[in-house]
Amino acid sequence: MSVGVAILGSTGSIGCSALQVLARQRERFRVVALTAHSNADLLQRQATDWAPGYVGIVNGGRREAGGGMRTGPECLVEAATHPDVQIVVNAIVGAAGLEATLAALRAGKRVALANKETLVMAGELVTRTAREGGGEIVPVDSEHSAVLQCITGRRAGELARLILTASGGPFRTWTPERVAGATVDEALRHPTWKMGKKITVDSASLVNKALEVIEAHFLFGLPYEGVDVVVHPQSVVHAFVEFVDGSVLAQVGFPTMELPILYALTHPDRVPDAGARRFDPVAAGTLTFEPVAAGLYPAYGLGRAAALVGGTAATTFNAANEVAVELFLEGKIRFGRIAETIARVLEGHHATAAASLETVLAADADARRLAREAACS
Ligand code: NAD
Ligand code: MG
Repeated sequence: MSVGVAILGSTGSIGCSALQVLARQRERFRVVALTAHSNADLLQRQATDWAPGYVGIVNGGRREAGGGMRTGPECLVEAATHPDVQIVVNAIVGAAGLEATLAALRAGKRVALANKETLVMAGELVTRTAREGGGEIVPVDSEHSAVLQCITGRRAGELARLILTASGGPFRTWTPERVAGATVDEALRHPTWKMGKKITVDSASLVNKALEVIEAHFLFGLPYEGVDVVVHPQSVVHAFVEFVDGSVLAQVGFPTMELPILYALTHPDRVPDAGARRFDPVAAGTLTFEPVAAGLYPAYGLGRAAALVGGTAATTFNAANEVAVELFLEGKIRFGRIAETIARVLEGHHATAAASLETVLAADADARRLAREAACS
């Protein structure tokens, strides 16, 4: 019997990669549900190719309503809890993915999670919901997939430290002054990965790595002192895992999201993938590692500090960043203003535990309002 899969955000970069992986694994998996935000044309083409039982569009307007597509934000939870679905690939960008993840976990599904923002905004709530609902979170993020691949089969007490790698983004060799005035085009020129716009900007500011540190803390249960980051411009080593005896394992490969997506579907098993690009150490060439230059990536430090405070501080960090990145992409603020906005919103924030959905959503809404004021004042 094949395993039923829902893809939330099927029209995005990760969603499209997931469909490419599934096209090569048709004997193991079947696509049961697809959802997207507003790209109805692409979603319709995907629905024609895959004939899932359920297709939903959040912002579809009237035209699609008659075409067999469900419309409105409730389609996300409907797809995530569909009875024929065993695995939910959450490839939505940003806070909009939270309720579907919670609903899937409550319904006991596996969530193959690309949507890291929601683990940052509500890590305690999401991990508790998984425990209580019998659901399972398996990371799609390449660094966290690398960690999971290295620790599978080990006991939790054997794990000592994680070192996540970061490409350093397009501004790695720039001065902080030049970075502050970078244009949207410059920020979107990622050296090694092809991704959606929001995560590409997050990779340029290194906010993405701060989000990933928090993601790793919640996924693997390590304190923040045990989650280090190193800049590795070639993006070949995805993460290092240090064990209590000092031994270090790493997972390596050319940068592609297809492997971590497939692994999130099959974990702890591995299945053959005829389409996977084989690794060649000679072609990979020289691999280099450097420390994170704090002055170049001020938002990264803010994210780590918010992580240490915990609770709604992480929610606030994430929401302020989402708003600032949106304003930057719209050309309304300069690149340097992203970190300044996050700093100002965090300065006035009094953190509390982020244990309930109401608390999380209220902190998220407050931070968004304050970020809009701070960014444009
Ligand atoms: P993307 O912008 O290409 O795609 C986003 C998807 O989310 C689209 O399908 C869109 O329809 C959907 N979406 C957006 N807003 C929505 C809303 N309000 N309601 C419902 N659906 C909505 O982004 P992406 O690069 O595919 O990234 C998706 C997620 O995966 C992000 O959380 C990102 O951090 C994470 N991620 C991406 C990569 C990558 O290589 N692209 C790697 C690791 C993690
Ligand atoms: Mg990553």
